[in-house]
Amino acid sequence: MMLESLLADAPPDCLRAPCCVCGRDTAAPVEVRHIPPDTVVYACPQDVVACAPGPVAHEA
Ligand SMILES: [Zn+2]
Repeated sequence: MMLESLLADAPPDCLRAPCCVCGRDTAAPVEVRHIPPDTVVYACPQDVVACAPGPVAHEA
């Protein structure tokens, strides 16, 4: 039984998020839309071009 492999599923330095286009988790999410106060919509690199561009807070 590899319990450690289950606990190590989410590396702290690696943000994973579901893609808004294909719905799959991606290890390299691209921020495509920010919905105040704290919701961010991501797309995977392959699908980001298919997403309608929205307001993205890159200043912070
Ligand atoms: Zn995708």
